[in-house]
Amino acid sequence: MIHRALNIESNDNSLFVTAQCNNKCVMCCQPPTQCDDIEKYFIQNIELIKSAPKGLKNIGITGGEPTLLGDKLFEYIRIIREYLPDTSIHILSNGRIFKDADYTHKLKDAGGEKLFVGVPLHSDFINDHNHIAGAESAYEETITGLYNLASEEICIELRIVINALNYSRLPQMAKFIFKNLTFVSWVALMGMEHIGYAIKNQSTIWIEPEQYSTQLSDATLYLSQVGIPVSIYNVPLCLLDKRIHKYACQSISDWKTLYLDECDKCSVRSDCCGLFATSHRIFKGIKAL
Ligand code: SF4
Repeated sequence: MIHRALNIESNDNSLFVTAQCNNKCVMCCQPPTQCDDIEKYFIQNIELIKSAPKGLKNIGITGGEPTLLGDKLFEYIRIIREYLPDTSIHILSNGRIFKDADYTHKLKDAGGEKLFVGVPLHSDFINDHNHIAGAESAYEETITGLYNLASEEICIELRIVINALNYSRLPQMAKFIFKNLTFVSWVALMGMEHIGYAIKNQSTIWIEPEQYSTQLSDATLYLSQVGIPVSIYNVPLCLLDKRIHKYACQSISDWKTLYLDECDKCSVRSDCCGLFATSHRIFKGIKAL
């Protein structure tokens, strides 16, 4: 994992805090290790925080699973708050530890108002979610965690990485979110990066955006109609139905964004997220608009 200086011009300023994880998601782009790396990354990251530009808008905390740091996660947050009081903190977590209401309360205490937690939901079906997460109790713990985060009024980004195992139920998942998780701040429907376990498991999980276009459009439009903010990450505009272009974001980190030669003649390039330069497989159907 490369540690880059935190840069005010970048759209991706994240602290990688551990490669360990208690899930084993089938499409994980950063396959977990069991190496005891928390202290090593802590020392490196504290230097990054201290030398970060004061006007930094957002800082991510990612892994691996950041909550495996236990109370050390709160130390990170307190140090960020001390050196960067106006910077939003965005933690990417599988959400399972937040089943513990005391831990969730401590997170709120440490993080205050400008705190966001991005949590993945893989399916509205227990078995599908657990299978994709690679952990038997993941669904129950993550759903309980979402409720605990909401009761602490912590902003939640609900993330759905679209793959061959969950795409057909995207419209049903949107309805499930409206019925059961209306408190989330927004839903991110995400294209997959072809790296890590996504390569290893490609025969069962890989899917092209043109194959899930209908389901993605239906889910996006439904969530928008019922008043739940929705965004699309990592899918280029030329692979999306025009009706949902306005929900697409420049979601790919600037340092790993790829545009093809075809993109040079495209009229919407400046609004398009492009492709993952890190993917070993390029989405089919890229065509200038
Ligand atoms: S051609 Fe390139 S820039 Fe244009 S929408 Fe497709 S991926 Fe984006």
